[in-house]
Amino acid sequence: MSRRRGESRTDADKTGRTHASSLARNGDEPSQRGAGSKPQQPREIAPALYLVATPIGNAEDITLRALATLRAADVIACEDTRVTAKLLARHGIERPLLAYHDHNAERMRPLLLERLRRGEIVALVSDAGTPLVSDPGFKLVRAAVAEGLAVGTLPGPSAALAALVLSGLPSDRFLFAGFLPAKQAGRRTALAELAPVRASLVFFESAPRLAESLADMAAVLGDRPAAVARELTKLYEEVRRGGLSELAARYAGEGPPRGELVVVVGPPAEAPAPSAEALDRQLEAALASMSVKDASAAVAAATGLSRREVYARALLLAGRG
Ligand code: SAM
Repeated sequence: MSRRRGESRTDADKTGRTHASSLARNGDEPSQRGAGSKPQQPREIAPALYLVATPIGNAEDITLRALATLRAADVIACEDTRVTAKLLARHGIERPLLAYHDHNAERMRPLLLERLRRGEIVALVSDAGTPLVSDPGFKLVRAAVAEGLAVGTLPGPSAALAALVLSGLPSDRFLFAGFLPAKQAGRRTALAELAPVRASLVFFESAPRLAESLADMAAVLGDRPAAVARELTKLYEEVRRGGLSELAARYAGEGPPRGELVVVVGPPAEAPAPSAEALDRQLEAALASMSVKDASAAVAAATGLSRREVYARALLLAGRG
């Protein structure tokens, strides 16, 4: 179906679909309006690319507006049509699905942009959570924005935010770092770059790599407070809190946990300078996989000591001083 931008459609069009306007009316009962406020006008869903957040576990975590938008969509672009078909079936929604994932995005993006130019409602969902957050969609949004095509969002579940707010760690400043590199050298280098950041750090991680990642975090970031949030919003939701070394040792002993998880690490403490022995231990751990320069930068950031001082010590330990 093709519409020009700005053209509206009625509540039940030829396809028999209902639209957000009916929901807007339902929500406009006098009891839900402030005294004296004007009744809201029923709202149409305007043609646009809509980024729709979907549940990360509990199937009921989807907003009314997200459902209305999916119902109204001319096409729903999704990572895996089987996963999204299940979500739609649960809510009695039947709309055309189109796969949009890392392996076909280059081919599918122009088609989606063309549909947007024609004035269609295009919804983008991922398998779980918020699209674009370690999921496909960034290049599509960037291209739509560059062309001046309308983009809207239906915010909702996000594993990163759910873990952050449950962690008990400072949430006023945080940095979402996505997945760390799978290999240890790359992971330690990435962690060294993050070490100076004065904010909580949020990482996605896979269960099989959890113990080794926590151990690298402890070595590079120092033994900061952390939380591992697992199976969020699901039956066996669990948050384990503790120092990075303690968590690393626990998971190394127990083996990989089941399910999906997020690691949140507290910001560097404004701590007193470490003893000479503690500094040497941290430097030796960092030097095991990093250059003298990277190891000193990471340890300086983790301890608050000056880079020059730590570099001098690192050179000695590396036998080059
Ligand atoms: N876009 C999604 C979002 O906004 O939540 C994230 C997609 S990313 C490909 C998948 C990663 O998110 C998982 O490997 C895990 O780290 C995290 N994740 C997703 N669902 C989760 C859950 N229910 N509990 C804990 N972590 C979860």
